[in-house]
Parts: sequence; structure tokens; C-alpha cells
Amino acid sequence: MKANDKDTESLKASRPKTSAAGVPGVRHAIQYSLTQAGPLRTTLTLLNLNQTDGIDCPGCAWPDPAHRHRNEYCENGAKHVNDEATTRRVTRDFFAEHSVAELDSRSDLWLNQQGRLTEPMVKRPGATHYEPIGWDDALGLVAEHLRRLASPDEAMFYTSGRLSNEAAFLLQLFARSYGTNNLPDCSNMCHESSGSGLGETLGIGKGSVSLDDIHNADLVLVVGQNPGTNHPRMLSALEETKRNGGRVVAVNPLPEAGLIRFKNPQKPRGIVGKGTVIADQFLRIRPGGDLALFQMLNRLLLEAEDAAPGAVLDHDFIDAHTTGYHAFATHTRGVTWEHVLAATGLDRAEIEALHQQVLASRSIIVCWAMGLTQHRHGVPTIREIVSFLLLRGNIGRPGAGVCPVRGHSNVQGDRTMGIWERMPDAFLDLLGAEFGFDPPRAHGYDSVDGVRAMRDGRAKVFVGVAGNFVRAMSDSAVTEAALRSCALTVQISTKLNRSHTVCGETALILPTLGRSDRDVQEAGEQFVTVEDSMSEVHQSRGRLEPASPDLLSEVAIIGRLARLTLGEDNGVPWEDFERDYGLVRDRIARVVPGFETFNARVAAPGGFRLPNPVNDLVFPTPSGKAVFVPNALDWLEAPPGHLILQSLRSHDQWNTVPYAMDDRYRGIHGARRIVMVNPDDLADFGIDDGALVDLVSIWTDGSERRADGFRVVGYPAARGSAASYYPETNVLVPLDSVAEISNTPTSKGVIVRLEPRWDG
Ligand code: SF4
Repeated sequence: MKANDKDTESLKASRPKTSAAGVPGVRHAIQYSLTQAGPLRTTLTLLNLNQTDGIDCPGCAWPDPAHRHRNEYCENGAKHVNDEATTRRVTRDFFAEHSVAELDSRSDLWLNQQGRLTEPMVKRPGATHYEPIGWDDALGLVAEHLRRLASPDEAMFYTSGRLSNEAAFLLQLFARSYGTNNLPDCSNMCHESSGSGLGETLGIGKGSVSLDDIHNADLVLVVGQNPGTNHPRMLSALEETKRNGGRVVAVNPLPEAGLIRFKNPQKPRGIVGKGTVIADQFLRIRPGGDLALFQMLNRLLLEAEDAAPGAVLDHDFIDAHTTGYHAFATHTRGVTWEHVLAATGLDRAEIEALHQQVLASRSIIVCWAMGLTQHRHGVPTIREIVSFLLLRGNIGRPGAGVCPVRGHSNVQGDRTMGIWERMPDAFLDLLGAEFGFDPPRAHGYDSVDGVRAMRDGRAKVFVGVAGNFVRAMSDSAVTEAALRSCALTVQISTKLNRSHTVCGETALILPTLGRSDRDVQEAGEQFVTVEDSMSEVHQSRGRLEPASPDLLSEVAIIGRLARLTLGEDNGVPWEDFERDYGLVRDRIARVVPGFETFNARVAAPGGFRLPNPVNDLVFPTPSGKAVFVPNALDWLEAPPGHLILQSLRSHDQWNTVPYAMDDRYRGIHGARRIVMVNPDDLADFGIDDGALVDLVSIWTDGSERRADGFRVVGYPAARGSAASYYPETNVLVPLDSVAEISNTPTSKGVIVRLEPRWDG
């Protein structure tokens, strides 16, 4: 939303819900789908969504079960796929009618609701409007800009997790053939801390568990995550855990509906019954307190072992498969209750109760999302969780392990395909050998460094393949200015978004096929492949008539751009790749470990699971062992009169895109510029529920940032915390406020005060 949209907001707040899904979830999914796509396309998308020969849901990266229902999707998946399948169209007449400046004054919601893009458009230098341009001219213009740059490192190629494996592999091949590793992606802003922490401790930056593990765990800790809105079918898996006798503990600053009770709409008991209680224990932790919590859990495990030697820790596992235990144990024994209680805002009894559940559980899984990763100490938090699991051998056996839950459908697969500014030499060696060139070795820009480079004039061409970079990034004002300073911005997109209105001197919109669109090339109908959060690789096949005859697939756009930029004789058969995606998969099979005989294996219904060496107790770390890392205790302290603000999504939102102004589970309707605060904190501040305030963030360098015009909503959040929607609050986070090591913006740890407005 733009700031001026606050004038159109009309907040109605009611009590937060205490259960998720059920009949209302189905009703909302169908209602939104029908308003977007109509009955025929809605029926087609929903019957094909997440079926073995159908459309992989672009809504998130939660895996599909082995045995699928006819209706294998959630409310948000249905809304998301039909948001893409919409019958609304953005045509050349639309762009003639609306100037870029006028479009920029519109809200994110309005932009998205205009429908699917239909043909390539260009905004030329000094022009006020986009105008139509043919594909050859559009791609020629990009190639010309790229060839004119003084260095390939003046270009950057951003991707979101919508990209298929095939398109991602070709994009990184093109960028590296062109001569740069500038491949920032949306993962830089979300799970980069997970990759960094897991890579250092286990040797691989991915989750280790399968759906069966979740079903059969004795204890699942869901930390800093709201699956009811962001990965709804995870609730079905947790319901199965409960039915199998396992327990679930939720650790989160807000009591989210999906973690309280789940009414599974696929089961009669979810339709007419009370549903299933999900969390056996809920710890309402202060944002950023998770590192302290796990440090204390680890200290308590060490002390329990002292009291009953050999009965608590798995010494055989520690001795055989880990390194660093003794230094870690010495450090951990020094953790104090005083610090942990201050950091977490929890009672000692709550933490001791969780410790008892841990002691009673043979197999434990820890799941997490952005609540852990978008803090300055996100990486140490992940390392501490790994140590927690290593102490009792909860890695590499059934019902146990690490589970970072990804939000974007193929963000994990894109990284596997080489979308990373720091791919290891082993990958680059194989890529170079396969295609006969020497890939650049110098690390490229991630998302934060990319904005710095554009801001400072070191990057001049931005190519965004999917996503909405300007709204996803922190420090909105700096990011917008950075993009506007580019000579050329290119967005390969399905729908209109802010990244089309905040553009460089020359700007191109290149419309592409969506996941749900049928993709027919010379060799026939094509499918693409994706990798979910649990490393399952499978097909996705679009079923709908494309939104316009003038769309190209991402594979085609990247291949044609590569030919025009690199020349016809660059040694890569781009035309063949466009004709038949199976030929791309043949090359992936020769370059990317785990993809041997890719085409044959992905032809099987449900595809295949990539090997994770951790599950065979093989740790690809320098020592060959899993690593205990002692972490300095770090937490956020808000000065008097201040709160720790986290940004989050509403239930009617997918990443940067709001579908409506409501957040049903939290009882918020008709408004997005709201801030949820504990009523006791409001009483302390003398601020009324419903008051209009500005959010003012304060930073250690003495700077302040302001997001104006937010309605206060009294909410049962952790004391000392606040929550507000992203991307409206991105403006509060300076570009340089990033997690140690991973460089992820610290969007979950913003110290703010609420300044009442005179006009409230
Ligand atoms: S859980 Fe995620 S992948 Fe599954 S249907 Fe819902 S949004 Fe789609």
C-alpha cells in the first residue's frame, strides 16, 4: 500500500479467531477464486492443483503427501493460483490511459487486481507512459544495454522463487556466460540465515526431514512461524503428528489461530467437529528471544545429563559424528536465567515445562520460518537449534531433524540450480566443463549489496525475473531511489506490481506464462520441475489457455535474451532448450549433484527426493562432522517507551501482494496500516486501542525512520512487542540493518515507539 491509501482504510477489529480453516476457509477460497477466474477456470485450476500430473501450487513450498486427495490444496493455495488464473487483463489501452506516475500512486492491492499482463511494454527515457514493443525489439534493447556496460558486474539478475528449475538453471548459465555472479534472489531476504547456519553446522543449507518424519515425531517445535496463513497444509501434517501421539509446541510472539486449533476441511471431523488442538504448549516469546530460549534448553539438557549421566545426551552420536562439543558445553553452562528471561519475556516455569517435554521425547523436529531468520542474530539462532538437536542425536534418524519451511514454491530449487551469488567452485567447475567456458569466480551481489551497488552507480541494469523486488526489500526509499537511478530496469512478470512503477530511465515489462498456463513449444507441450521444502523434486504442468497469445515462457525469454546478448555462436544450444525443456534437464543432470537421470526419475508420479547426506550421517563440513558452535547470547532490548516490532503478512496476502484488506484470523478487517500491541503495553504508554499513531524506528547510529498513520489494535501479543504488516513497514528498516553473516534484512527486530498523531 502507498502511504496515501490510509485515507481509504476503515478498520473493523474483532476478537482473533481460535481455529483455522474449516468451512470458512473453503468458502473464502472459493469466493476469491470465482471473482478472479470464473467458474470454469476455477474448476480447472483446483482439480489440477498439486495433483501428480497437474499444477504445482505456487503458494508456498510445503510438500505434497504421497496419497493425494482430489482437493489437495488450502485456502491460500486456491486463492493464489486463481489470482494468477484471473480473467482480468492489462492491455496496451490500460497503459495508454494510466501514466507511470499515476500507477505509482496506486496501492499494491489495486495494481494486482488489474489482472494479467498481455504484451511487452517499454517506457522510454523521459516518457510518462509505457507503450507497446515487439518481443524482438524488447529483447534486443536489453541485449544492447548489457553489451554496452563497462563490465558485466554492472548488471544484476534477480529472481523470486516462482522460477522453475529449468528457467533458473538457464538464467544462472546466462548470467555466468555473460560474466557475472550478480544473482540476488528472494532467499537473501528470507531463509538466507537458515542456509548460512545449517551450512556451517551440518554442511548443507537445507532441511533434513520428510513429511513422514513430521507425522512420526514425538515432538515438533514450531518456532517463529505461522503455518495457518503461510503454509496452511502444514497443519494437516501436524494434525497427523497429534493423531500418532506426538506433541507440538508453538513458540511465537502472537497466538496464531492455526497453531491453536485446526479444522481440517478434508475430514468430516474438521467440518462438523471442534477440530484438532495443535499446540500442546504455546510460548509467547518476545521477538528475537529464540536464541536465548534454545541456549537455556541446551543448558538444561547438560544439567540433566550431569544429574543422570548417560541418560540424557547421546554420547555415542556426539563422539562419532560431531565436533566442538566440549567448548560448546563449557560456554552453554554459563548461560544465566536472568539473561534468558529478559531476552524471551517468558516465565522460568514455561521454559522448564518445555524442557520436560524435550526430555520425554525420543525424536524431535524443529520447524521455523522468518521469525528466526530476520534478526541480526538469525544465524546464531539456527546454529543453536542445530546444537539442541545434536545433543540427543536428533539428526539423521526417523522423526527427527531440521525443518526450515520455505515460503516461495521453488526458492529452494532455484538455489539448487545455481541461483546464488556465491556458488561453490565445485558447481562452477562442472558448469564450465559442461558448457565450455570459465565461469566468473568473484562473488556477486546479494539483494542488499545489489541495492548498494545501484545506489552508488556501480550497477546500471536490473533484470528481475519474477517477484516484486522493490516491495520485498527493506529500506523502501533507498531501494526505490536505487532502481530509479538505473539506466534500464526489466521485469519479467505475470501481473502488474510496484516494481513496474518504480523504474529506471528505460523500463521494460516482459509478460510471461504463469505456473497455471499451458506451455506449448516446438517439441510439444512442456512441463517444468520444482523442489519443495523437503527436497522433493516433481513436475508442474500448466493446464489453462495462456492469458494472451503474446506471452513467452521464462525459458524462452532467457534463452532468446542470451542469444542476442552473447551471440549465436556462444556454444550453448539456447534454441534447442526453448524447443524442448527435457534437453535442459539433461544438462542439469550432468551439472547438479543428485539430478542424475533427471528426466527418467521426474517422469514418475510424484517425482523423487534429492539425497540429503545428513540423513546418512555424512556431514559435508570441513571436518566431516556436524559442528557444535558456541554462540554469544544476543537479544533485542527496547528502551523505555519502545517496543520490538516484527513485520508479517496478513491472511489475505501472498508475499508482497495483498488480495484484500482483511486479516480474518487476527480479526482485522478493512485496513492494513495497523499495529498490534499488547493492551497492557498500551495502558503503560497511555495510548488507546484504535488510536492513530506514527511508527518511529530508532537505530544504533542515532537515525530514526517513520511510517505514518497506523491504527493501534489491542492484541494478545508478547509484552514489549508489536506487529505490523509487510511491506508497509519496510520503510522502517535501514538497508544496513542486516543479520550477521547472512546479510538478511532484520525485518523481525525493529525497535519502535508509537507517536500519537494530532489528527487521530
Ligand atoms: S500449503 Fe502451500 S503449497 Fe500447499 S496448497 Fe497451501 S499454499 Fe499451496
